[in-house]
Amino acid sequence: MGLIVQKFGGTSVGSPERILNVAACVKEETERGNNVVVVVSAMGKSTDHLVSLAKEISAQPNKREMDMLLSTGEQVTISLLSMALNQQGLNAVSFTGWQAGIVTEPVHGNARISNINTEAIQTQIAAGKVVIVAGFQGITEDGEITTLGRGGSDTTAVALAAALKADKCDIYTDVTGVFTTDPRYVKAARKLLSISYDEMLELANLGAGVLHPRAVEFAKNYQVRLEVRSSMEKTEGTIIEGEATMEQNLVVRGVAFEDEITRVTVLGLTNSLTSLSTIFTTLAENHLNVDIIIQSTTEGGTANLSFSIHTNDLLETLKVLEDNKEVLGYDQLDAENKLAKVSIVGSGMVSNPGVAAKMFEILAANNIQIKMVSTSEIKVSAVVEEKHMLGAVEALHAAFELGE
Ligand code: ADP
Ligand code: ASP
Ligand code: MG
Repeated sequence: MGLIVQKFGGTSVGSPERILNVAACVKEETERGNNVVVVVSAMGKSTDHLVSLAKEISAQPNKREMDMLLSTGEQVTISLLSMALNQQGLNAVSFTGWQAGIVTEPVHGNARISNINTEAIQTQIAAGKVVIVAGFQGITEDGEITTLGRGGSDTTAVALAAALKADKCDIYTDVTGVFTTDPRYVKAARKLLSISYDEMLELANLGAGVLHPRAVEFAKNYQVRLEVRSSMEKTEGTIIEGEATMEQNLVVRGVAFEDEITRVTVLGLTNSLTSLSTIFTTLAENHLNVDIIIQSTTEGGTANLSFSIHTNDLLETLKVLEDNKEVLGYDQLDAENKLAKVSIVGSGMVSNPGVAAKMFEILAANNIQIKMVSTSEIKVSAVVEEKHMLGAVEALHAAFELGE
């Protein structure tokens, strides 16, 4: 008898009918002779609704209370699914994050799982029950409720699969697998039969919302067999594994994109040895996440520095820089909004020079100006104007022959 962790996302549990459909899917898995642990998200767009409710009360809601609020979404689904399973004659029990023993670091809104005490779940499995766990939430050592960041139910599922040494973790969602790019925006996107942990991790980190990046990290670190598949169609999904079998000999495997990027420029930095470290230490101390960084020196001996951030962090970033102007020693600040990042990913790039050059050529041929660039062994990212984002994705997807 095996142990399978199944995760169902928001759309897949978006209505009573869908929850009944999920119950049938869980039942089928038990009928194959497996023990099943199910992780669910909040129904449909209910997390978004909770966020807007909070915004109607306060422009900057208290982070602890925000977690208290958002964690209720998943609690609705676990109870309903448990009722549905009981109705179908299965013995099921629902657990919130803390009942499931999911311990996180003491950070509100984006906590990492630090430990899982699996005893309570194991006891229920041994008693022959299907255990349904609320995704996206945990508890600190001090008993405070935390959430794992938007999309974090995937991470609950994979972390549980790792801790329970499950045979497999199936992520059921509203697409049939991981595609070469987001199929909602690009018609020609093609489903991949398999993809490596490393490539999936890059795609997830670069904006492909189909999997939470930390879920892929857990899967890679604990070698969890992971499959992304449809909760509505009974078709094969995409396997995420150590070494993906290449379906085609393609250097680029996927295109990811992300909007709401802002470029901040710090002009006239007194080019002392320490100014770079001071700026980024100050930003990090204020939990401000910086992505691409570019520095250039001017003839006058000062330096100009540009870096990209999420647009939501702009006001706070400017405030931190202005509050520390004396220490940091610069002339002027500048910010450019409405930017986006488009990235190509593929582990074949390591041994194929010229991929970045080809990407720049394609963007130039489409009259798309590149504002910033960053590369790693298996990806190239370009920051472009937001209005060019989807055009850039389409052009790259076609030129690297990723389509059907
Ligand atoms: P869930 O609620 O099931 O967690 P999400 O909305 O978080 O679902 O993730 C599924 C969505 O991810 C899809 O509807 C799709 O629009 C988006 N997506 C982005 N990039 C990709 C990709 N490369 N392959 C498949 N889906 C993608
Ligand atoms: N309900 C949470 C969200 O909407 C977590 C998840 O769905 O994974 O972000
Ligand atoms: Mg998701």
